[in-house]
Amino acid sequence: MAPALRRALAVLLFGALCGLALWLRDLYPGVSGVQRDFLRLAPFVLGGVALAMALWFHRGRVALALGVLLAAYGAFSSLSVYGPAATVLSSGAALLVPINLALLGLLPERGLWTARGLIRLGLLGGQAGLLAWAVAHPQGALGELLQGPWTAPGSLPGTELAPASLGAYALGGVVLLGLWLYRGSPLDGGLLGALTATLPPLHTGGDGATTVVFWGLACLLLGVSLVQESYRLAFVDELTGLPGRRALEEQLQRMGPGVVVAMLDVDHFKKFNDRYGHQVGDQVLRKVAGHLSRMEGGGRAFRYGGEEFTVLFPGKSLEEAAEIMDRVRQRIAASGFRVRTPARSGGKQGPDHRGQGGGREVKVTVSVGLAGRGADRAGDVLQAADQLLYRAKRKGRNRVCR
Ligand code: GH3
Ligand code: MG
Ligand code: MG
Repeated sequence: MAPALRRALAVLLFGALCGLALWLRDLYPGVSGVQRDFLRLAPFVLGGVALAMALWFHRGRVALALGVLLAAYGAFSSLSVYGPAATVLSSGAALLVPINLALLGLLPERGLWTARGLIRLGLLGGQAGLLAWAVAHPQGALGELLQGPWTAPGSLPGTELAPASLGAYALGGVVLLGLWLYRGSPLDGGLLGALTATLPPLHTGGDGATTVVFWGLACLLLGVSLVQESYRLAFVDELTGLPGRRALEEQLQRMGPGVVVAMLDVDHFKKFNDRYGHQVGDQVLRKVAGHLSRMEGGGRAFRYGGEEFTVLFPGKSLEEAAEIMDRVRQRIAASGFRVRTPARSGGKQGPDHRGQGGGREVKVTVSVGLAGRGADRAGDVLQAADQLLYRAKRKGRNRVCR
């Protein structure tokens, strides 16, 4: 699925869940006191399940984000009496939630039970401790600060959000939206969704129903993003962004033997690695993957493994697929690859290159074996394509054999 379509679907899903949350909120006043007590536990249950999953999958950033959400929900749902301590608690939490969610979006994943993960946990615990101290001493310096006109709710017309909290939400929202658009990771989307979901209760001043349904929604969104991320890790190749071997096998099972399969292998790639280093080799793989992902004619590309790629052409004839693959092969061969790092010394028989400006322009070519139909199983078509790929290699590379 194209990234833009995936994002559009995510926004639609988010809108639908918000609609559901609003509908649930309006049902809330009608339920009995006992049922309400159970409903109040819902965000803890959703967040707790998501937290257990995050720990199981070693996703430290999501685990910490859930910790922030659960602590803040605990704080907001415990606010029953108004007074200086309650103001300090809600002002502090309304600032710390957006700041920490945005920071967790920016930080790289380092697990939780690692030195860096534990430092992050300690820093969050420190914030909670500081806030608890300010709540216990509302007349102290921090307590006074959190009750000031910039930080306390009620100083802006039409909203219970304090100016500082509104600023933190705007900044956090811009950061997470930028990360989500740039990287497209489900976790960035989950953090952005969670941040947005915590706005309505702060805007309305935290009536019971809005607090329960929207903090519950925030936890749910992080849990869903965790599942999506796990799926992505299993099915998408990290280096090239193409679906990986597992996704290919699943597709082949679904498509049956009627599909045309291309196996593609980068020529002399080992020499490329030896001469310019693995990092440049990785850049070449990304470049080839880029050509394959932009392929016309509905061809679906996968990274088979190493420097080998597979393309499936559902509903295409062998001739049509061969024409498409040959155009891709020509495009790859024609577009030079600029090497930015200096060549390793000693490598003498690397691929063609000529000096150009700051870097060198190197030629990358690929060989392709193409097979289709006539086999009993899709796996057999793949094997046939692999044999034809080796024929293309034997015949001198940079060609399509079928
Ligand atoms: P041929 O034209 O016959 O295909 O020659 P080749 O050198 O491309 O073939 P060979 O299979 O001998 O070399 C493949 C190399 O690809 C070996 C391995 O080090 C390298 N390789 C596999 N995966 C990766 C990767 O993810 N990154 C990089 N940089 N290199 C990789
Ligand atoms: Mg190979
Ligand atoms: Mg090769």
